[in-house]
Amino acid sequence: MTEFFYRCCECGEKYERDSVRYLCPECGKHCQPGQPLHGVLEAVFDYEAIQKRFDIKYPDWSLLCAVESEFHPNFPVGNTPFFKADKLGAELGLSHLFIKNDGLNPSGSLKDRASELVVAEAIRLGEKRIVTASTGNAAAALAAVCAATDREAIIFVPAAAPKAKLIQMLVHGARVVRVKGSYDDAFKLSIEFTERHGGLNRNTAYHPLTIEGKKTAALEIFEQNGCKAPAAVVVPVGDGVIIAGVFKGFYDLLQLGLIEKLPRLIAVQAESSDAIHHLVRTGQYRNAKKPQTIADSISVSAPSNAYLAQRAISESKGTSVIVADADILEAQQQLAMMTGVFAEPAAAATVAGLKKLRSEFMKNEEVVLLITGHGLKHADSVRDLLHVPDPVEPSLAAVEKELLQ
Ligand SMILES: *Cc1c(COP(=O)(O)O)cnc(C)c1O
Ligand SMILES: [Zn+2]
Repeated sequence: MTEFFYRCCECGEKYERDSVRYLCPECGKHCQPGQPLHGVLEAVFDYEAIQKRFDIKYPDWSLLCAVESEFHPNFPVGNTPFFKADKLGAELGLSHLFIKNDGLNPSGSLKDRASELVVAEAIRLGEKRIVTASTGNAAAALAAVCAATDREAIIFVPAAAPKAKLIQMLVHGARVVRVKGSYDDAFKLSIEFTERHGGLNRNTAYHPLTIEGKKTAALEIFEQNGCKAPAAVVVPVGDGVIIAGVFKGFYDLLQLGLIEKLPRLIAVQAESSDAIHHLVRTGQYRNAKKPQTIADSISVSAPSNAYLAQRAISESKGTSVIVADADILEAQQQLAMMTGVFAEPAAAATVAGLKKLRSEFMKNEEVVLLITGHGLKHADSVRDLLHVPDPVEPSLAAVEKELLQ
């Protein structure tokens, strides 16, 4: 049995699981379009009861899952590889640098974790239609999970979403609305649409189980790291839900007494899409004016989960950093050449961020790069930096001329 209630991260009010669906009914009233959400809900479990039943030798993670196993679709997500990146670590002067490669989820990004859990919730509630706004990956993930069940996915994306991500949504049979505007416009429209026409809205942070879904990345890092927390996890940040989810996973582990301390969470944003970084560094919120970046997955003017993300960073004693597009592209290539992992720009931003903050880590600390999306989703991003060789005649002489001269 799943035992939890929702708690508003702003006023602290508690709500029974099925008495609310999205935001705190009180704080949610202060929401304004084009601003971060108010009244985001967190799932609070009965840690004492779970602690009694949880056995670290045979960990039953379903005890920490907000939707009962029977409602989950047959669409396995997560359990992605976690491994030491020796060569890149040596280059950066870190002897324990690790990669959690969530680009290897079924639809190629960490978003599969959140989409899977929200679809499980839709199955529990008997909702046939799930609606989301997305920069691309959340929608691709939702489309894929819905294809594995008999649910309809309706998706609002900015018209400029990368082609490979659009193709993913379409090939899985989602209804796709390409909005002439930004991700923030798509976010607003998708909420208006569900308010009027129903269905379950999966918008990130707006639906509290998106945070719960993403927390499984942290639970896996703990388990794959020999049942201990690393010193730090580097997370690319757009809306701030992945970082809040990673925080929640480690927070749950802390409540169960399985770890003694939270890892420092390091938020990496793109220079032009820096609203959370600005909030962390100054204590003042303001939107990012023109969030145009090659890292499309972290391009947002008003991050929906800005306040909870700020809390995740401060309570974990972490920090934030911004990186330029040129650094992201360089990091994307460096990651590919030194680890064999091809990450999309947003995910590679973690490497650029780590380089900038290198002096804040001791050489032997365990640092994890959370690689959130696969490079093939946006392969065009590096295209201009690579030299594509001209074709050669099919003769050994021509090959020797190409390779040996
Ligand atoms: C969504 C996404 C992010 C950012 O996650 P937020 O929850 O919006 O902060 C980072 N990288 C990739 C690949 C993503 O798809
Ligand atoms: Zn509230």
